Amino acid sequence: MIKEEYGDYRFLVHNNYTNEDTPVTVDPDKLGLFDDKSIFTALPDACPFFRFQPGTDKAWCTAHLTRPDICRDYGCWRLLILDHKGRRVGRIMNIRTLCSENALLTKIWESCVEEHKEPDDRKWEETMTRILRNAGYTVRR
Ligand code: SF4
Repeated sequence: MIKEEYGDYRFLVHNNYTNEDTPVTVDPDKLGLFDDKSIFTALPDACPFFRFQPGTDKAWCTAHLTRPDICRDYGCWRLLILDHKGRRVGRIMNIRTLCSENALLTKIWESCVEEHKEPDDRKWEETMTRILRNAGYTVRR
């Protein structure tokens, strides 16, 4: 929960379970996204920093750079993407949202996976997994 708001997109986030307070700042490139609060109509209990890119099912942590340690440690994911050395390079969150800071994986995703509009989630997952495996990645549950 947000304990205090300092203005300039700076907040103090309180963890009710660990009692920790963490200063968090909205990422400079996500201020506009953060200002759009429409997500809370459909998801009233969403994290105050969670946003969808308008018109897409892409989701973002708008405070990614300063997110609390528990978010870094927890790393929630539905599917995990590993590179050829077994290093974690991406997570699939929500239904079909890629979360990755790996430029090559992001490029493959944008050019090959996003255009695949299969409505059946299981079939989409099979195709996505095949595309990433062919590119040298491993997809794990
Ligand atoms: S990682 Fe998720 S839970 Fe943590 S601050 Fe960002 S949106 Fe919120």
